[in-house]
Parts: sequence; C-alpha cells; structure tokens
Amino acid sequence: MAHSLLLLPGDGIGPEVMAEARRLVEWCTEATNLHFTIEEDLVGGAAYDAHGVSISDQAMAKAQAADAVLLGAVGGPKWDGVEYDVRPEAGLLRLRKELGLFANLRPAICYPALADASSLKKDLIDGLDILIVRELTGGVYFGEPKEITDIGNGQKRAVDTQVYDTYEIERISRVAFELARARAGRVCSSEKRNVMKTGVLWHEVVSRVHAEHYADVALDHVLADNCAMQLVRNPKQFDVIVTDNLFGDVLSDIAAMLTGSLGMLPSASLGETDEKTGRRRALYEPVHGSAPDIAGRGLANPIAMVASFAMALRYSFDAGDIAGRIETAISRVLDDGLRTADIMEQGARQVSTADMGTAILDAL
Ligand code: NAD
Repeated sequence: MAHSLLLLPGDGIGPEVMAEARRLVEWCTEATNLHFTIEEDLVGGAAYDAHGVSISDQAMAKAQAADAVLLGAVGGPKWDGVEYDVRPEAGLLRLRKELGLFANLRPAICYPALADASSLKKDLIDGLDILIVRELTGGVYFGEPKEITDIGNGQKRAVDTQVYDTYEIERISRVAFELARARAGRVCSSEKRNVMKTGVLWHEVVSRVHAEHYADVALDHVLADNCAMQLVRNPKQFDVIVTDNLFGDVLSDIAAMLTGSLGMLPSASLGETDEKTGRRRALYEPVHGSAPDIAGRGLANPIAMVASFAMALRYSFDAGDIAGRIETAISRVLDDGLRTADIMEQGARQVSTADMGTAILDAL
C-alpha cells in the first residue's frame, strides 16, 4: 500500500531543502518496501502570492487527507507588510490548529563529526541524544484573557493567561512516555510547581499517568529553571523531557544550540491517533526559517529537512529502520568532511545544497 505525503516547500530556502527531501522520498519508493505518493502545494508567502491567503482551503484539504505533511519554511521580508491574518506564519498556525498538532518533538542529537562546533566542551555533548516533547496548542500562548488594557494615569496592564486542562497534560505525557519506551526509557517532566498552579496540576497529572500506565518508564520531575541549567551543565543526563508550551519553547532552543547549526535540526508535530484508522496526524519540518539571506544560492543546509523526513519515517510510517539508515548516511557524509557553508570548518570540503543531498543518497 502506498503512503501519501503532502509536500509544502514554502518560501526562501524551503523549496531548495525540500527538493533534497523529495529525492529521499523517491529513493524510499525505489529502493525500499515503503512506497509514497507525493502531492505538493503552496504555503506561506508563496500561497499568498498565488491565492491571497497563506494556505488555501484546497491545500488544507490535502493536508487533512495525507498520511503526513512535510513543510519547508515560510516567511520573508517580501511579505512583511501583508495583513496580519494572511501573513505567511498564519498558514503554519492554521495547519497546526486544524490538524490538532498538540505534541512538538524536537530531538537534539550530536553528530560526532560536529562535536567541536558546539559551544560546550566536546565530552559534554559527544553522543548526545535527547528529545524535547513540548505541548504546542495550550498554555500561555493561547490562554484567555490575553490583552493590554488602559488603566488610567498613563498606565497600561498586559495580561497573558497560562491555562491547562487535565486532558491536555494527559495526552502530552502519554506521548512522552510512549516515546521514552522506544528510547532509553527515561522521562523528565519540567514545570514550575513552586510558583505556578499550572505547574502543580502538571506535576500531579504526569505523576498519575505514569503510575497508572507507564511504571516501567523512569520518571523525574525538575523545575524548569533548573532544567535550563542542567541542559547546559550536563545535557546527557536527559533522555525525554516533557514540558509545556512556554518552557518547551525556551528549553528546546537551548537544547538545539547544544548541537551547533540551525540547519541540522528537524522537528515533528503530532496530533491524536484516530481510533478508527490508527492514523496520527503529523507535520514534519526543520526548526529553521526561510533564511532569506541565503535563499536561491545553493547555500542552504538540507540536513534538517532530510532528518525531518527521517522523523516522518519513524513516527508516521513505523519505519525506524529506514530512518536509522538515513541518519547513518548523514553521519557518514559528515565524517567524510562534507559541509554546507553554515557548518563549514577548517579542513572540510564545502558543498552546495544539492551536492549534500547527492552525497546522502550516495551514502545510502
Ligand atoms: P532563519 O532560521 O530563517 O535564519 C536564521 C539564520 O540561520 C540565518 O542567518 C540563516 O541564513 C541561517 N540558516 C537557517 N537555516 C539554515 C539552513 N538550512 N542552512 C544554512 N543556514 C541556515 O530565521 P530568521 O532569519 O529569524 O527568519 C527568516 C524568516 O523565516 C522570517 O520571515 C521568519 O518569520 C521565518 N521563520 C519561519 C519559520 C518556519 O517556517 N517554521 C521558523 C522561523 C522563522
């Protein structure tokens, strides 16, 4: 049976890095027992230019129907002036919202060949492999009220509301425990229960879900500020970190920088599993943006996009073996000294976006 993929290359370097991921998708269909049908559509500024919206209803329908969506990146200075609700990022937010993507997975893996590029000492990050599971659709970014009011005397008051319901914490902790089972079997839950009621509930619900269903997984709790410190002090102590939307935003960026360039970092966003079909809505995208400063010049690093497809293989298509082969191929190419401009170092050989894609295919 063929699996369906929707490719949304987007703007800037999005189409360049997606072209390399597409070659990998086609390689899978030719060289493995996994077969993909590919559709492609517009998102972000590209969709705005064509349709006046950041994602068309037709593209949304394709995303709803696909087994997984691969997205490049959206945005750029060209669209800085467009109305707020059709700005490029709105397309991404619509996808996340309408696909119900509540779990954001951000792995931080250190490829041995790049261990020297980290701002931390090599022995602290050599062999690093952690996964941050961030709640993506709740918390303070969405809670109401969210407003700035005039309170007189030249003063204003700004309010954001951090709010979580039990079900939101239950479902994100289930994702973290399930993932940990397939990894080193350790989850660290991070909140601030010492000063926040949402932290108290978070701690309570994660602990209960653990006791009831996942006692085989080791669970620790760490306050979010301490978690930030521990991530730079001794990141290898962690396996899976589960946390809310706000802390996850910050902690995942810290974890990202442990391993060097933005051009290396993949991500996945997952929704609920449909009980009838067993299918889970999912969108895979690099962490980086559209990098308008280097777009169209063959300078973009395609590894984050290619590794995002590897995540799709692992989490949407139960093909961890093929994902592992792709990750090993990336590692091999880096060991051979090939580098795109963003990760270039002395003694290495600088290659273009397409050459990096070719080298990964050759290594496969
Ligand atoms: P960016 O991630 O696009 O770029 C930051 C820096 O990293 C730039 O110097 C860029 O050249 C470099 N870089 C990023 N990806 C790279 C890659 N694959 N290979 C080599 N170098 C890479 O962030 P920005 O400059 O703050 O934002 C540019 C645009 O992207 C903005 O319009 C922003 O809104 C948008 N953006 C989109 C997403 C997304 O689509 N998910 C995420 C972040 C930013």
